[in-house]
Amino acid sequence: MDRKPLIAITGASSGIGEATARAFSAAGHPVLLMARRLERLNALGLPDAVIRQVDVRDRAALAAAVADAEAEHGPVDMMFANAGIARLGDIGRQPPEDWDEMIDINTKGVMNTVHAVMSGMMARRQGTLVMMSSIAGRKVYPDHTVYCGTKFFVHAVSESLREYLAPHDVRVIVVSPGIIDTEVLDGVRDETTLANYKANKQAIGGGISADVVAKLILDAYELPQRTIVQEIVITPTRQK
Ligand code: NDP
Repeated sequence: MDRKPLIAITGASSGIGEATARAFSAAGHPVLLMARRLERLNALGLPDAVIRQVDVRDRAALAAAVADAEAEHGPVDMMFANAGIARLGDIGRQPPEDWDEMIDINTKGVMNTVHAVMSGMMARRQGTLVMMSSIAGRKVYPDHTVYCGTKFFVHAVSESLREYLAPHDVRVIVVSPGIIDTEVLDGVRDETTLANYKANKQAIGGGISADVVAKLILDAYELPQRTIVQEIVITPTRQK
């Protein structure tokens, strides 16, 4: 049986990244799992997994992790630039350190992640970049100001990259979820924003399982290389 290609995921230690790691591993792919919480990556217990403690702000660590995994399993065929944080909060009250962290991780971190694999994919004329945006990368919310800014950034970069990479046969898929049940709210420090978010989530009947997002990504990846799902927008039915 042919060996399945290597799949790399940032933010694989929880939530959507973890669910996607499990889905691709169950489909028979070796996986490169990256995040800061090494113990959570190890606890996944996935076969053919290369596990690296990587902060996406660290370009050299990303490159080294990719090189290690590729030496073992061949080229990365899909990179999921998923790692991100949501310091949602009222911009009038938010400490600038929260913007710094979100901007560094959600924008520069995504660029670092793409950079680690893009030239290899172009040279091979094969590969898929999956970019984690959000519904907050398509519409704004008044108490998500900088988070929305970072996700609009991902959206714009993804669309530009898709056009840039299309002639090289590399696919760029942007993922824009609504409310998904993960640990992402742990990053919200603004009590009022957190209370409003939770009230809205309850009012619309709750979030969606991360497994649903993972399955959509796997389905999109498994289409022939010359076919692309340009964007996956998935929300609870009642979410506006
Ligand atoms: P989680 O908090 O469960 O997952 C976030 C992941 O990102 C963790 O694995 C975390 O790992 C990793 N991460 C955070 N900062 C860094 C960093 N500096 N370097 C490397 N890894 C990092 O939440 P989600 O699964 O929900 O979030 C995944 C992505 O989905 C994010 O980009 C988020 O913005 C986006 N999203 C989530 C939605 C939701 O409703 N849940 C909706 C729309 C988009 P560790 O802490 O171990 O480093």
